[in-house]
Amino acid sequence: MGEIADLYRLQQLELNIDSVRRELKGLPVYGQFKKLQNEVADNREAVSRAESKLAEQRKRSRRLEMEVERIHQESKAVQARLYSGTVKSAKELEQMENKNKALLREKSKTEEDLLLAMEAVEELEKTLAEARGNLEINSHRLSDMQRQGNREIKNYKDRIAELQAEIDGLRSRVSPSLLAEYDAMRTRFHGRPVARLEGENCSGCRVSISSNLRNRLCNPSALVHCENCGRLLVPQGS
Ligand SMILES: [Zn+2]
Repeated sequence: MGEIADLYRLQQLELNIDSVRRELKGLPVYGQFKKLQNEVADNREAVSRAESKLAEQRKRSRRLEMEVERIHQESKAVQARLYSGTVKSAKELEQMENKNKALLREKSKTEEDLLLAMEAVEELEKTLAEARGNLEINSHRLSDMQRQGNREIKNYKDRIAELQAEIDGLRSRVSPSLLAEYDAMRTRFHGRPVARLEGENCSGCRVSISSNLRNRLCNPSALVHCENCGRLLVPQGS
């Protein structure tokens, strides 16, 4: 196989490796992973928010419980004195009765608050359990996706490494001057500076090649450029 045929093969491999690299870069798993990662971060935040709200609400419940107990004791003391028969003055009796009523009202109000706080604790416990569940589910999904994505990415990288090894082998076989010409022409021809002879036409520009040039192509080591587009021509079937 002539050098030009090697060069054509090199071109095809380089086009191939470029497209595999583009595919790797555009893999949907990257976007999906990022999205799920954000979801997990949100889930984690929801858990910690529910935890701190729950702790706060539990503290409030305990405080209200103690408050109810305190009012209860105070009210008991007032009632004991009120019904002890030791208070003789009508004015003092009235004051104590008022105080007792006020304490009972306060107690009932505080008990209501306590009930609401206990309901809030229950509600927050549910919220927290749900948030923890979501976090667990999404964390598992994330690590599954990570494993699967890494496998997928590894396949692409393995394929790129294989192509690169083939490319390196071919590049070491082609003479440096020809390689330099090929590399210099790559940008101009969008990675396709080598064209094949297809029938009588250049595969790059589809213009027919003169019989004179076609004859020169019979020599596999001859450097023949298409007269129309300037691409290097490689003989048919190589
Ligand atoms: Zn051409």
